[in-house]
Amino acid sequence: MRYIREDLQELVPYRASNYEHKIALNSNESPFDLPGGTKKRLIKHIQRDNLFNRYPDPDSTLLRQAIAKHCKVDASNILVASGSDELIQMIINTFVNKGEYVLYPTPSFSMYKIYTQICGGIPVSVELGEDYKYNIDTFIEMGHRYDAKVAFICNPNNPTGTTIDREEIKSFIEEFKGIVVIDEAYIEFHGGTVMDLILKYDNVIILRTFSKAFGAAGLRIGYLVANQDIVDDVYVTKSPYNINTFSQLTALELLKDWDKVKERIDYIIAERERLYGILCAIDNIDVFPSSANFLLIKVEDSQYVYDELLKTGILVRNFSEDDILANHIRVSIGSKEENDMFLQEFLNILQERGPQN
Ligand SMILES: *Cc1c(COP(=O)(O)O)cnc(C)c1O
Repeated sequence: MRYIREDLQELVPYRASNYEHKIALNSNESPFDLPGGTKKRLIKHIQRDNLFNRYPDPDSTLLRQAIAKHCKVDASNILVASGSDELIQMIINTFVNKGEYVLYPTPSFSMYKIYTQICGGIPVSVELGEDYKYNIDTFIEMGHRYDAKVAFICNPNNPTGTTIDREEIKSFIEEFKGIVVIDEAYIEFHGGTVMDLILKYDNVIILRTFSKAFGAAGLRIGYLVANQDIVDDVYVTKSPYNINTFSQLTALELLKDWDKVKERIDYIIAERERLYGILCAIDNIDVFPSSANFLLIKVEDSQYVYDELLKTGILVRNFSEDDILANHIRVSIGSKEENDMFLQEFLNILQERGPQN
């Protein structure tokens, strides 16, 4: 006897691969540890009395104020959650009735579809165009056809690294009848945020995270930026104590080291471009230009390349089970040393396999 809801029976749980490895280039994390200053101030906090026997601040008040300053918006426009993952779920729970449609690009971040299905919505994927670029007219058309309630736009898009420009985003927001969520998980590696649009239109949500550019995936902190009505609505679905005290304080202290974080972002961008240049010169693979902290590479046999890399201790993301991305791997940009190790092993593997017929 299975007790699970009928409409969830076919869902496969999301399980991140957890093979033994030396170098993790599979989750778009940062190779950098927390800045030393952040750690020092954090230790001071931990030594405070009665810090962890009390529940955390359910509103993350201090952190929201710091994020608001960082984003140059009002704290009332910010909602913090346990990763932007949780915000994606909260947004769908807030706005999507059972049987209503949710639009998202494909290939893109898998959680848009999964949370839609969990909440009883109907996922509608819109295929990206040539070279995985957004085709906004298709988005607009599909939005109308399904009368979708929520649409996700991932900019820059994971795992393709492609971007969509401001004018196209604006035309979509103007045409779309529901809520438009712009997932800016990688925006720090690109620039060109459209955060200012949250007060120009009444249907816009920006999603951000501390997991990628800020290098704090383990904290589980994400935030949304939206007008106050939307923030109040999404708040309805919030668990009271979803962000623990430790994470609130660490993120707060990390924001004070923004200059250091920015240096590291510039380093990752420089490494991305260096790697891209080298990979472009290699025969029999395709590497896509990226505006994020990873590169998407098409190879002849991604399962083989993935397995061989793993034998050398390097973990990348393999998309062999994806219809569109079969034979693509995604490689996160690590430290210079890690990237060089990857390059060396990757080139070895391609050479060993030799030309394919
Ligand atoms: C990594 C990622 C997230 C999730 O970030 P968390 O804040 O760690 O939950 C959201 N959206 C996209 C596109 C991502 O790649």
